[in-house]
Order: sequence, then C-alpha cells, then structure tokens
Amino acid sequence: MSANREPGTTPRIGRAAYADVPLYDPKRVPTPTDLSDNTNLWGIPPVAERTLRELPWQRVTRYPSLYAAELKAALATVAGVTPDMVVTGCGSDDILDSAMRAIGDPGMLVAYSDPTFAMVPIFSRMNALRAVGVPELASGVPDVDALVASGADVLYLCAPNNPTGRLVPREALARLLRDFPGYVILDEAYIEFAGPDASHVPLLAAHERLLLVRTMSKAWGLAGMRVGYALAQPALAAEVEKSRGPYKVNGLAEAVALAAVTHDRDWVDAHVALAVENRRRLETVLREMGLSPVPSSANFTLVPVDQCVEVGAAMRARGVAVRPFPALPHLGDALRISVGPWEVVQQAIDALRAVLAARGPLQRTDTMPIPRATA
Ligand code: PMP
Repeated sequence: MSANREPGTTPRIGRAAYADVPLYDPKRVPTPTDLSDNTNLWGIPPVAERTLRELPWQRVTRYPSLYAAELKAALATVAGVTPDMVVTGCGSDDILDSAMRAIGDPGMLVAYSDPTFAMVPIFSRMNALRAVGVPELASGVPDVDALVASGADVLYLCAPNNPTGRLVPREALARLLRDFPGYVILDEAYIEFAGPDASHVPLLAAHERLLLVRTMSKAWGLAGMRVGYALAQPALAAEVEKSRGPYKVNGLAEAVALAAVTHDRDWVDAHVALAVENRRRLETVLREMGLSPVPSSANFTLVPVDQCVEVGAAMRARGVAVRPFPALPHLGDALRISVGPWEVVQQAIDALRAVLAARGPLQRTDTMPIPRATA
C-alpha cells in the first residue's frame, strides 16, 4: 500500500514526499533599491527590449516551438557546443527540477556543498530524492573527500557559488569528476562574471554524466522572462529535455531570448565588465570599512556582518534591500549585496555604514525568519 493510503489513516492529499516541501516565501518587501536577487540592475539588452515591444500577436495566439530549437542553436554557438548538447527551460530552476527528475530514481541521494543555492534540497524533495549538505572546508573549497564518501547518486555544485561568489578550484573539481561515481550538476548561473577562462564547457567532452546549468536571469537581464538552459553530452541533454516536456519556454520569452543571444552580446559583455569593476570597487570600500568581504567571481559580494538579519532589516528601513545569510558554516552571519550601477551600490554602502555606525549594542528589530537565498 502506498504511503498515502495507510490502513486506518486519512490519506494525505498529494505525494508523500511533498509533506515537507514548503512554498517558497522569501518575505520580500518592495524596497526602492533592491540589491537582493543578483539580477542585471542595468536593465534589459536593447534588441531584446525592442523585440518585446514589437512582437507580432501571432506569436502569442499560437504555441511556441516545442523545444526552442532556434534558441538552442543560438545558445550552442555562444557556448561553443552543438545544438544537441543544449536543453532550455523555464528558468534554470526548471532545468534543475527537470534534471533531478531525469536522473534520480525516487529515494536517491543528492549531495551538495553547503552553503549553496537554497532551492537544491527543495527540488530534491520535490522529485522524491533525499538531499544532504556537506559543509565546505574552512578555505571555502568543497569538501571533496566528504562529498565522495557521502554515497550520493547526484552531486550539485555551484560555481561561482551562491551565496559566497567563489569558484570551485580546478583541482578540486577534477578530483570530484574523477572520484564521484554519479551525476554532477554544476550550476553556472553566474559564470559570465567569472572571466573568459572560467567556463566549464571543456569538461563536457570527457564526462557523460556532467550537466552545466545556466540562466538568462543574471548577466542577460531577462529574469522575468524565465529562460534557463543546460549543456551536456547529447544523451544526457536528451533525457533532461524529455523530463522537461514540450512548450516550456513561452513564445514571448523565446523571441526575446533569441534576440538577446543573437544581437545583444556586446551589451551583455559591456555590462558584465561594469559589474566586475563595481564589485571590485565595493570590495575595496568594504575592506576600508574594516569588513572582510569574500573575494567574489559573481555579480554580488558576500560580507560577514554580525547580526545580519537585524542589519539587513535596518538597511531596508533606509530603502536598501540586501540578503542576510545567518550562521553560514565558517563565515557566520553575512550579507549578500548584488552589484549594479555605482549609484545603487553607493546607496547600499551608505546604508550599511549608517547602520553599523548607529548600532552599538543591537536591538532585535526583526525576528521574522528569513530563508537562505533562492534568488
Ligand atoms: N542557480 C543559482 C545559483 C541561482 O542563484 C539562481 C537564482 N538566483 C538560479 C539557479 C535560478 O535562476 P533562474 O530560475 O532565474 O534561472
């Protein structure tokens, strides 16, 4: 008898694995300056914007393409792979969800280096998989030995990692790919900010169980369009595509994303360069303030600050939203600050400076539990 139909009990509604799956609720409060979700704060690429405004209505009344073949071909060109190595999705959230469904049989174990993207254990449970976080080493490097020893079937890594901004060192990744027997999902949501040599695409040729996950929500400025994609050898890409299902990228998003990939790469590159420059400037200012930001390869900076939830709430009261991360392994309380045009970064610095100067012995101003980042 299934877990939902124990004799003498009222069957629960929905599959048993969903009993512990919370609805996502980051308790986001609209804030004039929002540096909490690592999106592109310069806006939407110009040709993408024009495409959005001028889309013929026929593109809306009819179904989009089944598996976004044209967009896949364009993304393949950018990534330097063949189109059969690309699968698209409704955001990279959808890719992660589909991938777990495609490669994990119910009950399998997903291991991830902790801290990382908070949706990973949730997507695992949504697909009836179990998830275990393995604390990263004090150096910020994933604990390769413990991850391999975890006995997991699927490994999730994120490089640059959310929320630390760190890449996974090459030798650690090489050891994991050599010694971990299962599938490796490597989330590259922020890879554009890590420099031209950071891409993990060259690893695909030798690893048939490696899936690289990417998004158009960050560098590409299209978070609201919900377009993500993955790169893998064709056999694995095909399985994820089956699991994803047809028509997952809507017609508007498909057209806008295709326009951006085809025509707006210079705009994206220029704004990635600005984000990297402003991230370095922000790190310098934070160090001058006596803080110790984690050196980042992404479009955000994580900076340890005691009582980060209270500090975050006080900054929000001054009109600036950043994301608090309480009690991270080795780092303790920290704030994650997204980087954008310097004026908005300066507002975050001013708010943080004012809150730290005023805080003395901090009062608890906000006891609302704030979950780890999902953005
Ligand atoms: N992976 C990471 C590491 C992220 O930080 C995010 C969102 N912040 C995602 C995936 C999901 O992004 P999206 O669904 O918008 O592509």
